[in-house]
Amino acid sequence: MSDPGVESQEQHLNTLAFQRSLTGMAFLSAEGTFVSLNPAFCSIMGYEREQLLGKHVDSIRHPADIESLYEAKPKVLDAIGLETSAPSADPKERRFVDRNGNTIWANVAVSVLRTSPGRQLYFIQVQAITEHKPLQTGAERSLAQMIDMLEHSTDGFFAVDSQSRFTYVNRSAEMFFGRLRAHLIGLSFTDVFPEAAAQAIAEHCSRILTDHRPNLLELYDEPGNRWIEINASPLADSFSVLFRDVTDRRQAEAALRESEELHRILTEHCSDIISKHTGEGDILYASPSSKTLLGYEAEELIGTNIFDYFHPEDLRLIQDAGDYSIMATEMSLPPYRMRTKQGEYLWLETNIRRVSTPEPGSKPFVWVSRDISARKKNEQQLLKTNELLQKISSIDALTGLANRRSFDENYAREWRHGLRFATPLSVILLDIDYFKRYNDNYGHHEGDLCLQQVAEALLRAAKRPGDFIARFGGEEFIIVLPMTDESGAAFVAEQLRYEIERLGIPHTCSDVSTIVTASLGFATLVPSRELSPQELLIRADRALYQAKQEGRNQVKGFLTA
Ligand code: GH3
Ligand code: MG
Ligand code: MG
Repeated sequence: MSDPGVESQEQHLNTLAFQRSLTGMAFLSAEGTFVSLNPAFCSIMGYEREQLLGKHVDSIRHPADIESLYEAKPKVLDAIGLETSAPSADPKERRFVDRNGNTIWANVAVSVLRTSPGRQLYFIQVQAITEHKPLQTGAERSLAQMIDMLEHSTDGFFAVDSQSRFTYVNRSAEMFFGRLRAHLIGLSFTDVFPEAAAQAIAEHCSRILTDHRPNLLELYDEPGNRWIEINASPLADSFSVLFRDVTDRRQAEAALRESEELHRILTEHCSDIISKHTGEGDILYASPSSKTLLGYEAEELIGTNIFDYFHPEDLRLIQDAGDYSIMATEMSLPPYRMRTKQGEYLWLETNIRRVSTPEPGSKPFVWVSRDISARKKNEQQLLKTNELLQKISSIDALTGLANRRSFDENYAREWRHGLRFATPLSVILLDIDYFKRYNDNYGHHEGDLCLQQVAEALLRAAKRPGDFIARFGGEEFIIVLPMTDESGAAFVAEQLRYEIERLGIPHTCSDVSTIVTASLGFATLVPSRELSPQELLIRADRALYQAKQEGRNQVKGFLTA
């Protein structure tokens, strides 16, 4: 029987030794996670105790020490490179990585402890030898540097042996596969890639092995819904793969292709001419519609200056409009004519937009030009037709009565008729009283409406088939009465005056009444060769003048003798 007091004292001393030892000591679970560590272990590895407890030993192991280890089992010893069989192995030099990423060289010894049946722990002892360890050969140094670079690379990297088993996997690859490298080392890469992808990689790699040159392969990783770019390099009888997720780039490329395709369709099938120019108007691009509309192949136009094709008159117009090259973003050119290859001129309307391009300093102008010949032709036709219509028209647009031109024709005809048959001809001139004041008071529009009402009243009063009423000008009207003597004319004139009065259109500024009134002068004669047709009109005008003089709103006849 041992003394329990002595035993507990011994346990206490053991614990003290574990805590104070200068040798780093740690217990690992069968899975390889830290169960317990002493301060020396933490200090060698540069971690706090809490940072390592529960973590896998892989997290501090140096990647360069893994490659030759995958064959050893179980994995935990595999990770630190020791035999399982030996209960207490001789120390071996192994590398770890401290919290700051520095390589720690250490002598490592591992023992297997069976704590209860079927359960075991690993006891690791570590002595740092970094300070004593000179950087060995140049080859080792460059390997260490390369490993360091791979560990910090955002690209994934793995190396496989001749049986396609992972011998090295960097941190980014760990992240990419979502598995710890301790679990990846020794697996075939066909275990981690979907079958189709693995096959594509295998074929790609075997091609490289025969070709012996690096090559790029892009493949779709279906489960991950991502595109991967594989850059495989042959090693002696195996290969290594540098890979990256290129999904974003693929998507951007696809979007660009789609938008380029759309633009191509738009420019090639658009009936407008789309062209690109420098600030001086030199043509950098012209869409195929330049051939259809202007007869020039796009290639013929490129390098020439757009303004050389302008009609000289229109060029002046555009130059007068200002310097378009200094405009900010967008402007429209007034309609202009452009010379076609056949030497004719085509009417165009152009919208100019300044665009940004990736080339520094380049800000070309995009012109979208539309053929407006048809519209221009219609406009010109319409203008001509209107002019013609006006010329041949006999109707006064405002009142619907005959116009002055029509009066001239009619009056000449009636004169000839009177001359031939020696019948009397009468004319009545009618002028609205104080109409200027009416306009001033009620506005020009009301004035027009008043003229229309007066015209209707006149039509009501002079209803004999031969009577002819015309708007003589402004607010003056003329009535031609064929085969009518003085008394007839006097009667009709009075009728006309009365009809206007009867309208009862208010006219508060009139001196003669509160409503619109008119003054009328008439004259009658039998046309003869000694008389000019003008004579009758002059006489009627004199009579009108007299009616005005004598107080307005009345009829006066020209007194012959
Ligand atoms: P008086 O009694 O002496 O004839 O006076 P008045 O103001 O009518 O004299 P005047 O002949 O000088 O003025 C005629 C005015 O008629 C001038 C113009 O403002 C108006 N006028 C002429 N033609 C039109 C027209 O087509 N529409 C309208 N609203 N006004 C017209
Ligand atoms: Mg007048
Ligand atoms: Mg008047």
